[in-house]
Amino acid sequence: MEFRDLKRQYNALREEISKRTERILEESRFIQGREVAELEEKLADYVGAKHCITCSSGTDALRLALQAADIGEGDGVIVPDFTFFATAEAVMQTGAVPIFTEPEENGYNISAKGVERELCRAEKEGSVRIKAVLAADMFGLPANYPELERIAKKYNVLLFEDGAQSFGGKIGEQKAGSFGAAAATSFFPSKPLGCYGDGGAVFTDDDGLAEQVRSLREHGKGSDKYDNVRVGCNSRLDTLQAAVLLAKLAAYKRYELDAAQKIAEIYSVKLGAAKLETPKIPTLFYSAWAQYTVKLQNKTQREELQRELKNAGIPSNVYYPKPLSSQKACLHLQTPADITEKTQNLCDRVLSLPFHPYMTEWETEQVCRVCYDTLGTV
Ligand SMILES: *Cc1c(COP(=O)(O)O)cnc(C)c1O
Repeated sequence: MEFRDLKRQYNALREEISKRTERILEESRFIQGREVAELEEKLADYVGAKHCITCSSGTDALRLALQAADIGEGDGVIVPDFTFFATAEAVMQTGAVPIFTEPEENGYNISAKGVERELCRAEKEGSVRIKAVLAADMFGLPANYPELERIAKKYNVLLFEDGAQSFGGKIGEQKAGSFGAAAATSFFPSKPLGCYGDGGAVFTDDDGLAEQVRSLREHGKGSDKYDNVRVGCNSRLDTLQAAVLLAKLAAYKRYELDAAQKIAEIYSVKLGAAKLETPKIPTLFYSAWAQYTVKLQNKTQREELQRELKNAGIPSNVYYPKPLSSQKACLHLQTPADITEKTQNLCDRVLSLPFHPYMTEWETEQVCRVCYDTLGTV
């Protein structure tokens, strides 16, 4: 069994992908071909954002969005302690300082209460000027944006969305990628909408931010490519990846997202009978199901389940084994021990199970059986 079966997806979309990519190879339009503009238009339309600016990776998308909002040296940005390193890395690349906050008690996303506590603390101590909150949508579920927006407004800070894992997720009718001043997503191959290499995009309704991101991603260009008004970088999405994404976006909208939702429901019903915690999705929230991640009682039990799954030929992964605050690259930030401890507790208990839209019910059955046998049933 594959953890995320990209080969099955390719087999289903092979013809469409070949047709689109061959055209580009024949015409040699590798950079900024018309597929890039077409993709940006379609993505913006799907997400419900005024602008979509594609770029070379989700990490770049995050950094470009922050830089466009003038975040840099001397600024603090509140970020989740439980996420992929790139969330905090992008902040550090701008010269700003990440301030880690623990996950919420019942889920995997940043605790809104913790965010407010950090803003309050900074206000009292005045050590660092917090300029923004960057929340991440873990495993596909949008963070608690209604609450985060309220807090950001109250403390007069910007809000950004790391939607690298949540393309297709939503709260009510508002799609992931449309929260905050700007949002970033990733097209890394194993994300909900992935290309065949690295890729990412920034979404925003703000004309000024959009213009800055467009300029920064292409050598700080001004009115044209050979007019340079600032130092930017080279972070374009190439035409071939845009073509792959156009083919995949059509399938994603047509059936993949629904199929993922269905597999997640099957897992949740079946695993409801096993002694573990299934992901909790609040009312009106919809996950894009980048991962199906369960919680065990402790590390020993998690290790046991992972071993039994492996013996049955079933892959599983720990996302993420370590709080960002205890990564070597972040130790100098001296995060309060209680925040790291809370995050570490979650890190010790999580396990992501095989999951993708092309998974069969029979395959979920195999996974669930090992869970019943190892953990017992309720
Ligand atoms: C994958 C990921 C990123 C980075 O995306 P890349 O395209 O790999 O650069 C950032 N944040 C989160 C939460 C991610 O999962």
